[in-house]
Amino acid sequence: MKLCRFNDGRLGLVREGVVFDVSFATESLPQHRWPFPASDAVIENLGRIIAEIESVPALARGIPLTEVSLRSCVGNVPKIVAAPVNYHAHVDEVIADPAMHAHRHSLKIGEAGLFLKAPSSLVGPGDGIRVSFPERRTDHEVELVVVIGTTCKDVPEGDALDVVAGYCIGLDITLRGVEDRSFRKSLDTYTVLGPWLTTRDEISDPDALSLELSVNGEPRQSASTSQLIFDVRKLISWASSWYTLYPGDVLMTGTPQGVGPIVGGDRIDATITGLGSMTVAVRDHTAGGVVRL
Ligand code: MN
Repeated sequence: MKLCRFNDGRLGLVREGVVFDVSFATESLPQHRWPFPASDAVIENLGRIIAEIESVPALARGIPLTEVSLRSCVGNVPKIVAAPVNYHAHVDEVIADPAMHAHRHSLKIGEAGLFLKAPSSLVGPGDGIRVSFPERRTDHEVELVVVIGTTCKDVPEGDALDVVAGYCIGLDITLRGVEDRSFRKSLDTYTVLGPWLTTRDEISDPDALSLELSVNGEPRQSASTSQLIFDVRKLISWASSWYTLYPGDVLMTGTPQGVGPIVGGDRIDATITGLGSMTVAVRDHTAGGVVRL
């Protein structure tokens, strides 16, 4: 099943270019009083949500995808765990470009570890990216994203896919410079998740998906998750050996080669096999940013 969030936070079922509003399925979610649990309620109760949607004999008329604005496909993300330097060809381009290696992290993932991005950096394709410091270099990174579905800790590699709710496309937008990585990658709008969550039953092998990213129609990144240094199972197992993972946590698996700059006015198109495609507009924060209070 393909589930999106759209417009003012509606839950949508995506089928062949059409979005069906299935927000009714969230009405039976457990009610909580403050303090609210950190997990995402839809992801935590995904089985129940899917059963509710499937129990409806006929859905109301759908809306063409082109007429909705897509939000982050996970509403409440407790934490964003991300893998650096997880494709050999990307490591090579980092070595070749001093601007991409200003912070001098280890270039071996086992030594470099994982890093965390602020959940407040998260947006959907329809929100777009706002470049905060246009005078500095800002890069795109397309990544396979794993959405965790079960509270878990110390998950063995052999069981790792059992804790997955689904997958989506992620953009890990990166300001280049000498500051700490999480500081440069956590600016507002610098994590894009979309276009929708594809439940794990639809993806038989997450380590065999093609990723593509273009900027203004120019191909930049093209690779397969078969080239991951630490594959999806190993990343889940490793992350869960450091942190308890919660429903709605997202694991960004790392970007392949072809990372390059973006500027205000650009259009990013990103595609992953089986997970769909998304178009994301890039604007300068200073020129067109909107302050939402
Ligand atoms: Mn990345």
